[in-house]
Amino acid sequence: MDCGANLDVPNDSLQGEIIGCPDCGLDFVIEMDESGNKQLRELLIEGEDWGE
Ligand SMILES: [Zn+2]
Repeated sequence: MDCGANLDVPNDSLQGEIIGCPDCGLDFVIEMDESGNKQLRELLIEGEDWGE
C-alpha cells in the first residue's frame, strides 16, 4: 500500500470494516485472506467516473 503507516487491525474488527489512516487520511477496508488472516486493502473511491 502507498501508506507508510502501520495500521493495527483490531482483533474484533469485521471483514469489510473501514479504517481511516490517521497519518495520510486514506481509507482502508479489512479483508480476509484464504488463511483467515485480516489484511488492510486501500479503499479506492471511483465515484467520479460516471461515463456520460
Ligand atoms: Zn497513511
